[in-house]
Amino acid sequence: MNPYELSIGQARTELDAGRLSSRELTLSCLQRIKDVDETIQSFLRITEEEALGQADAADKQIAAGKAEPLCGIPLSIKDLLCTKGIVTSCGSKILENFVPPYDATVIEKLKDQGTVIIGKVAMDEFAMGSTSENCAFAVPDNPWKKGFVAGGSSGGSASSVAAMECLGSLGSDTGGSIRQPASLCGVVGMKPTYGRVSRYGLVAFASSLDQIGPLSRDVTDCAMMMNGIAGYDKRDSTSIQKATPDYSASLSQGLKGMKVGIPREYFAAGLDKDVAAVVENGIQILRDAGAETVDISLPHTEYCVAVYYLIAPAEASSNLARYDGVAYGYREMDAESLVDMYRETRSHGFGDEVKRRILIGTYALSSGYYDAYYKKASQVRTLILQDFQKAYESCDVIISPVTPTPAWQKGVHADDPLALYLSDILTISANLAGIPGISVPGGFSADGLPIGIQLQAAHFQEETLFKAAYNLELGTKLANRCPELG
Ligand code: GLN
Repeated sequence: MNPYELSIGQARTELDAGRLSSRELTLSCLQRIKDVDETIQSFLRITEEEALGQADAADKQIAAGKAEPLCGIPLSIKDLLCTKGIVTSCGSKILENFVPPYDATVIEKLKDQGTVIIGKVAMDEFAMGSTSENCAFAVPDNPWKKGFVAGGSSGGSASSVAAMECLGSLGSDTGGSIRQPASLCGVVGMKPTYGRVSRYGLVAFASSLDQIGPLSRDVTDCAMMMNGIAGYDKRDSTSIQKATPDYSASLSQGLKGMKVGIPREYFAAGLDKDVAAVVENGIQILRDAGAETVDISLPHTEYCVAVYYLIAPAEASSNLARYDGVAYGYREMDAESLVDMYRETRSHGFGDEVKRRILIGTYALSSGYYDAYYKKASQVRTLILQDFQKAYESCDVIISPVTPTPAWQKGVHADDPLALYLSDILTISANLAGIPGISVPGGFSADGLPIGIQLQAAHFQEETLFKAAYNLELGTKLANRCPELG
């Protein structure tokens, strides 16, 4: 077995027993990247030198018996988390040469724990998209099927974990961007409760929806990564002052006493039959593990897409106003006046999807339309939250598909943004409500594409999610799987 094939949990055992060094593990991942990334295209930047330095430092900590659970473990990082001294492009031409002078809180935490950061991975520009095809630099391939999308916007995170180029990755989820690519690439991905993980140093897309979270090869690793990144941070005013539980301790066998809600609106027409079958099987696994299932209703589900695609662009239009060629990154040098410089910089620096969002968001916030669009959407957002609050009176977790279909071929939705927006229907409500969600590999479609199962729980109930997810994984036996790569 090659070191890169180890899960984080397995690598931890090997590292602590002295049978493997972090340098060997890191070199093994770097070699794997060299072997497969030309095809998979997960990485925008491989930080080989820094990674080997971090690995050597980790080996010293391990030898001194001072290793924390993620010490010496190579992870990839979505390219919207600020990394001091390393370009953080957000997948955008406008930030192509942006070198942050500081680390995001989650990066600082990982470094303090001796984690190895092996590189920055591809994503949709400013995290806007569901396929990573909006990345200005590279579009990752689905490791399970050549020419198919890896999902988005954390597509490079998911493809790098699925192709075993690293042992785990950090992504961000504003409307499904961790759970959806995790599902399409056959890995685990968690969006924590809003406020559970600090957003300081995350390049903002929609600040009331964004959350950072882990993508990993199994549920155990996901819990280890959450332990490493969760917690209050005074530099993020929306982070919550609440003790972080030990998520690894929640991974126990058996679900006796747990109630699993099945939301009828999530199994509506248009759901792919392979996806439906995989989720049915997941429901049976949870029942066999002792859980009881109840039918529930989330009646405002049909409004989620419309609400999200008003609120997220509105916040984005405001957040992205700072990219004007003055303080950050790209500037159009040939402009004749200041206003021209702004216009040219933004016209050339942003891609089409980002411009579309800025236009929609600015429109929704403009005087005369604010009440009809932004305010109305915010009101319906409250109704969506109330749907979940009511549902959790009768269940502990909600099970559903992550996406209506498995991965699709690159390019098929290139001229149809609405089709992509609609495919987010099952993931965006968790962001609107601020609740946690996890995608766990559930099975495969008839033509071999991975299909994930989504579990959602009430605010700060990640432990319940982990327990259910762990039992689901025991039943599917799909932990730490890798496709044959060319
Ligand atoms: N696909 C959604 C969008 O395009 C979600 C993106 C995300 O979660 N960052 O906005």
